[in-house]
Amino acid sequence: RYVLFHESIMTEQDVQLPLYDRGYFFGDGIYEVVRVYQGKIFALTPHLNRLKRSMQEMDMPMPYEAETLAKRMQEIVDANDLTNGYIYVQITRGAEERSHVYSQELTPVVTGFAQEAEVPVVLQQEGITAWVADDIRWLRCDIKTINLLGNIFKKKEAQDAGAQEAIMHRDGTVTEGASSNVFIVQNGTLFTHPANHFILNGITRQYVINEAEKAGIPVREEAFSLEELAASDEIFMTNTSFEVTPVTTLRGDLTANVPAGEITRTLQRAFDAAVEHETGA
Ligand code: PMP
Repeated sequence: RYVLFHESIMTEQDVQLPLYDRGYFFGDGIYEVVRVYQGKIFALTPHLNRLKRSMQEMDMPMPYEAETLAKRMQEIVDANDLTNGYIYVQITRGAEERSHVYSQELTPVVTGFAQEAEVPVVLQQEGITAWVADDIRWLRCDIKTINLLGNIFKKKEAQDAGAQEAIMHRDGTVTEGASSNVFIVQNGTLFTHPANHFILNGITRQYVINEAEKAGIPVREEAFSLEELAASDEIFMTNTSFEVTPVTTLRGDLTANVPAGEITRTLQRAFDAAVEHETGA
């Protein structure tokens, strides 16, 4: 497998990661996951913009130009003959003697790899079960940090309960999934949590909002409650890996069954069309 290390593409065996990396000590780093359809990278610019924003919020310097990173990402795809899957890119603050306070002179450590992964079409058709649980994360969920323990705990609870994803709430206000955003439909209007420090502003979320507006579906970026979630006409979740996926069963802090609906289907088709338009896939 060919991977990215700093500014170069090399084989896995040639990577020499520093033992004192702050990524290992503190989870002090950020990442992006970008989808590849038929060998073409989808939504690269918004992903790179979000990466730059995460770096700024972390007070980390970009190790090199975003354009160079974009080139290296396509090189990972090409070197590994990736057709359908994703690219994972991570930038940690760098290596130094362990101390909470970081030095400004550190050299960030860039790593990246490609992974084959098909779109889960069966889940997209049939819907998933979501585990509804409290959001125990910190208050800067807008940063795409590799520090993901809150998300990991909830994903594990979901898996143990036979659910495919978690839907998290803070004191009854729904925020997002463990690795996705949540939308509901109520009387033909789409609702999703506003993009503030309580959620990660998903790239798929932004595409869906844009496609909904183009299709004349009213969108309100407003938080909704657990009661509204349970009473909604449709529920779906969005992320880079499963795109637009309906939630048909809720368990955990709530129990409900919500069949996949027309607006979800319309947005699935619109998202597929956007992918085809950008990548030809
Ligand atoms: N929220 C969280 C917490 C996530 O981890 C992800 C996946 N990166 C998302 C939302 C969805 O983001 P995207 O659509 O950019 O994959």
